[in-house]
Amino acid sequence: MSERCDLLVVGGGINGAGIARDAAGRGLKVLLVEKDDLASHTSSASTKLVHGGLRYLENFKFRLVAESLREREVLLRNAPHIIWPLRFVMPHEPGMRPNWMLRIGLALYDRLGGPRTLAGSHRVDLRKAPHCASLQERLRTGFEYSDCWVEDSRLVVLTAMDAEARGASVRTRTECVALDRQRDCWTVKLRFESTEREVKARAIVNAGGPFVDRMARIALGQGTPAHLRLVKGSHIVVSRRYPGEHAYIFQQPDRRIVFAIPYERDFTLIGTTDLLYEDDLDRVEISTAENDYLREAASRYFKSGIAVDEIVSTFSGVRPLYEDNAGTNSTVTRDYVFELDSDEGAPILSVYGGKITTYRKLAEHALAKLGSALPIPGEPWTKQVPLPGGDMAGADFARFLWEASDSYDWLPAEMLLRLSRAYGTRITKLIGKARSLNDLGRHFGGDLYEAELTYLVRHEFARTSEDVLWRRSKLGLHLNPQAKADVGEWFDQKQLV
Ligand SMILES: Cc1cc2nc3c(=O)[nH]c(=O)nc-3n(C[C@H](O)[C@H](O)[C@H](O)COP(=O)(O)OP(=O)(O)OC[C@H]3O[C@@H](n4cnc5c(N)ncnc54)[C@H](O)[C@@H]3O)c2cc1C
Repeated sequence: MSERCDLLVVGGGINGAGIARDAAGRGLKVLLVEKDDLASHTSSASTKLVHGGLRYLENFKFRLVAESLREREVLLRNAPHIIWPLRFVMPHEPGMRPNWMLRIGLALYDRLGGPRTLAGSHRVDLRKAPHCASLQERLRTGFEYSDCWVEDSRLVVLTAMDAEARGASVRTRTECVALDRQRDCWTVKLRFESTEREVKARAIVNAGGPFVDRMARIALGQGTPAHLRLVKGSHIVVSRRYPGEHAYIFQQPDRRIVFAIPYERDFTLIGTTDLLYEDDLDRVEISTAENDYLREAASRYFKSGIAVDEIVSTFSGVRPLYEDNAGTNSTVTRDYVFELDSDEGAPILSVYGGKITTYRKLAEHALAKLGSALPIPGEPWTKQVPLPGGDMAGADFARFLWEASDSYDWLPAEMLLRLSRAYGTRITKLIGKARSLNDLGRHFGGDLYEAELTYLVRHEFARTSEDVLWRRSKLGLHLNPQAKADVGEWFDQKQLV
């Protein structure tokens, strides 16, 4: 007999994970399937900002910006380990967006989201500000404002973990390959490795991100209209360009903006581009032209330019934007849109667009929309509930770290900080009964020990070295090739996939 669930969520990116968590917490029997790893597509390739999106104001996207700013506060409170405040410096020069426009924009940005804990915006004299000493001397004035940083792929994993803790079944490397609609349910074919199995679901959420149109056609037929505009964005990672924990936002001659952000202690992240994408969605890579664009964009501002051989890593993703026929790839809406199809039988809800920042509200709205076709028990609940590891007194990460340094005084400071950031209060589960580094098992290099790999397999759905080195952590940037190969071998021996 086929397995049965109330809701099958297809797609383990941020939106699928968010909807699965919310629905499971309301008492629905949820199955979340992801064809690759959690966050292996767009949700690990973002700029990693929980932000209102200052630049969306010039396109009058007030609803989106206000909701995002409100969510900034909610997410910061619920996941203070993986989300933290970030100050941005935006240099200003004649010929760019006028001064008055930036002032009005920032004043609105400070107020649109209602009460906030983050510092407000102000003008800055770049020649006198010591933290701006790495900028070229012609730059005299600028503005400073706040947003937040988020470990995007960890946000997805923690959200999926919480969904599982509330009863959802989360299956990675499981692809939804066929959907057949009846009056009261869907018969779904799922493929895991070479095995296929059937599941019956009362409703489907299609949260396939860039694959959402493809999924809708599998469900509703080849004639189903496409709604996506696929826009590629790439980032380059270079060795650290400047001291300090602030980020920069650089306006470009083509009116686009490019961020430079402190990344993984030793690096600076520079991104992003905006290019229409029609290639293979499973293999999205930076092009030479994007590479050059980003290097030039940052070199316009930093005293020392960026050479090709200074790039240590890159990543690219595709924004699954809802096609609103706006002029450019930068101005097409970042807001989310739902398509609910329930006329011909059991419902399917397809999710278009969205941002990491708005995923929690998107999930609430998705369930409200689905509620017209399927009884959804319970009320919205996620606003007040921390994500795994985020249950810190007063959402105060500094205090948590201080206390952790007492409990684990044998952990090197850098390692304690990394583990506290990644796992928050769940660090106790990872460390277990260990009382010294030796108790953490095999040492792979840097500050990676076997205990962390075991934890990631047991609790965070990790199945390969990629899952660990590039998504649940960014240790891939820090470990040498031999250490990375050793992690790969460790996984091979476990034979998890
Ligand atoms: C360059 C760039 C920068 C960005 N910066 C930011 C930012 O700073 N802040 C912000 O808030 N947002 C940002 N975004 C937007 C944000 O990253 C996306 O909106 C979000 O990650 C989309 O999540 P998703 O769950 O819809 O898609 P995805 O993360 O792509 O997830 C969809 C998943 O569905 C799976 N799937 C598809 N078909 C099937 C199937 N048949 N069976 C099983 N699984 C399937 C895929 O494998 C995939 O993992 C950025 C996006 C890009 C590209």
